[in-house]
Amino acid sequence: MTPRRAVVGGPAASRGRPFARCVGRAEGPLCAAMSSPLRLALLLFALVVRPAFADEVRIGVLAFQGGERASRDFEPTVAHLARALPQRHFALVPLDLDGVAAAVAEKSIDFVLTNPGDYVDLESRFGVTRLATLESRDHTPPTDTVASVVVAPNRAGRPIRLADLAGRRLAVVADDAFGGWRVIWREMDDVGLAPGDLAGLIETGFPMQTVLAALREGRADAGVLRACLLEEEIAAGRLGRDEFAVVGERETANFPCRVSSRLYPDWPFARLAGVSPDLAKAVTASLLSMAPVDGRAWTAPQDYTGVHALFRQLKIGPYEHLARVTVSGWLRAHWHWVAAFLLAVGWWIVHVARVETLVRARTAALTREIGEREKAERSARLHREERDQFSRLGILGEMASNIAHELNQPLAAITNYAEGITRHIDGGRTDGAFLRDGARGIAGQAERAAAIIRKIRAFVRRREAKREMLDLDEVVAETLALFEGLAARRGIPIRVTATAGLPPVSADRVEIEQVLLNLLQNAVDAMIDRPDRDRGVEIRTRAVDGAVEVEVRDHGPGLDEAVAAHLFEPFFTTKPQGLGLGLSICRTIVESHGGRLTAANQPGGGLAMRFALPIEAEEPT
Ligand code: ADP
Repeated sequence: MTPRRAVVGGPAASRGRPFARCVGRAEGPLCAAMSSPLRLALLLFALVVRPAFADEVRIGVLAFQGGERASRDFEPTVAHLARALPQRHFALVPLDLDGVAAAVAEKSIDFVLTNPGDYVDLESRFGVTRLATLESRDHTPPTDTVASVVVAPNRAGRPIRLADLAGRRLAVVADDAFGGWRVIWREMDDVGLAPGDLAGLIETGFPMQTVLAALREGRADAGVLRACLLEEEIAAGRLGRDEFAVVGERETANFPCRVSSRLYPDWPFARLAGVSPDLAKAVTASLLSMAPVDGRAWTAPQDYTGVHALFRQLKIGPYEHLARVTVSGWLRAHWHWVAAFLLAVGWWIVHVARVETLVRARTAALTREIGEREKAERSARLHREERDQFSRLGILGEMASNIAHELNQPLAAITNYAEGITRHIDGGRTDGAFLRDGARGIAGQAERAAAIIRKIRAFVRRREAKREMLDLDEVVAETLALFEGLAARRGIPIRVTATAGLPPVSADRVEIEQVLLNLLQNAVDAMIDRPDRDRGVEIRTRAVDGAVEVEVRDHGPGLDEAVAAHLFEPFFTTKPQGLGLGLSICRTIVESHGGRLTAANQPGGGLAMRFALPIEAEEPT
C-alpha cells in the first residue's frame, strides 16, 4: 500500500508544515501571529529568525487530532520544562506526519513527541532517541497504553470477528496512522486478512471522530479508532452507549478501554541526534520529575520492540525493504528450499549420467554379444551349408549310376532319331514330315537331358535357403523322378500313398528333396540283405496336428537300441562307406522349418522315418 500522507489540523494546515503554539518567551506577538491566517509566513519568519533566539528549544509534536488538541495535551509538559529550565525558551511545534519527518530531517526541531510507530521510523532513519515514555495514570502499566479498537454500527449482520471484515469497507483516519490503522492491520494479518481482502480502505482524515461520522453516514461498514476514544465519546454524550459494537474484541488485564488489538507502549519524548547531551540530560530529569497533569506524566523510556515487530511483520517503515524481493534476500529466506532443489538437481544429473554410462556399457556389451552371436550364427550357417554341400555331393555319388541312366535314355533316343533320319536320307527319301518329326524328337530328348542336368546342378549348387509354399505330394513325386531308377535297379519297389488336397507348407524345395532322398537312400541301404520278395518302400503323406507328415517306411532290420541312441549324431554310421551325416543334416533341415524328424521301429519289422512340417510355417531361419 502506498501511504497517503494525512493532513492534520485546521483549515490553514498544509502538508509538512508546522502548526505553531508558543510557550515561554515565544508567547505574545509571535504566538498571536501563529493563530492568524498569516501563520505560514510567520512560521517561515520563525525559522529564519531562529538563530536570534540561540537558546530556543523546539519540540515537534504529532498533532494527529489537530494542532489545538496537541497543544492542549502537551502544553503542561512544555510549561513544566520552561519552569525547570528558565534559561531556555521552549516552543511547541505541532506537525503532521510528514511535517515531523521533514523537521527531523532538517533538524529544525530539537525534540519530538510522536506516536510509537512514527518514533520507531524516526529512530531507524534519523537516530532519534527516546528519553521518556508518556504515562497516563488512567492506563496502567505504561508499556501497554496504545491500542486500537474496531467498531461497527450495532445492527444485525455486523462483523463480529476481524476475519468478518473481508469484503467490507473499513474507515481509517489515514493509511499511515499507527493507532488509527497499522495496529489493526497487524491483527488482521494475524488472522490471514490482507488490506486487499477488504471492499475498500476509506481514509477519513483527522480528527479521528470523522471515522465515526463515516460510519454513521453509511460510507463504511466498520472503522478503526485509537483505544479509549469510543469511551471518551460516549462519556461526552456524543455517542449512544449501544450505537457501536466492537469487532474482534480482545481481553486485556488492567486496561480500562475496549480494544481489538494488542497493547503497545505510549508516546515517547525523543531527542534528535544533534542535541547536546547536557540539554538532553536536563530535559530528561525535568520530564521524570514532572507531576501528573490531567493524569499525564513521564516515566522511564519503555521498550518499543513490539512496535518494531509490527513494522517487521507488515514489512513497512524501517522494514519496508523486506517487501522488496531481491535475489540475495530471496535466497536467504528460502535457502533450505534452494539447497533441496540443488541437491535434487545434482542427484538427477548424477543419476542421468550413471544411467547413460550404464546404458552405453550395456549397449556396447549387447552389440558385442550380438556381433559374436551373429558371427557364430554365420559360421554355423556356413558350416551347415558346407555339410549340406558335402551331403549332396555324397548323395550324388550314390546316385551317379542313376543319373547316368537317366541321361542315357534321352541320349539313346537322340541316337535313334539321328540314325533313323540318316537311314531315311540314305534311302533317297525326302519325306519332310518324317524328317521334321525326327528333328523334333531329337530336340525334345535334348531338352529332357538338359532338364536332368539343370536339376542335378541346382541340387549340387551351393545355395541359400529359399522358402516357398509347397505341396509335399508334388515334392515327393519330383524326388522320386530322381530316385526311382536307382531303386528299380536294386529291385526295390516304391509305393506312394498320397492324401489329396494336402495344405501347402512353407519350405525350401531343394532342402526337402534332400531330406527325402536321404531317407529313401537309407531305406534302400537297410534292405540290401533282404530277399527280393521282402523288399519295398512305402511313402505316405497325411495332415496331422497342424502339420503335413511324410513317412518313409522300409522293411529292413529297423534300429537296435545302440543305433537308436546315436541315430541323429553327426558322423555316426554303421555302413562301411557311410559318412554318418545324412540324418543329422535331415534333422537340422526339418527343425529349421519348425518341424520334427522321428524314427520308429514297425511292429511287422522295418523302420518308419517321419518328418512333419507345420502348416503355419515359421519365419525362415
Ligand atoms: P549314413 O547313411 O552315412 O550311415 P546316416 O546319418 O544317414 O548316415 O545314417 C546313420 C545310421 O543310421 C546308419 O549308418 C544306419 O546304421 C542307421 N540307419 C539310418 N536309416 C536306417 C534305416 N532305414 N534302417 C536301419 N538303420 C538305419
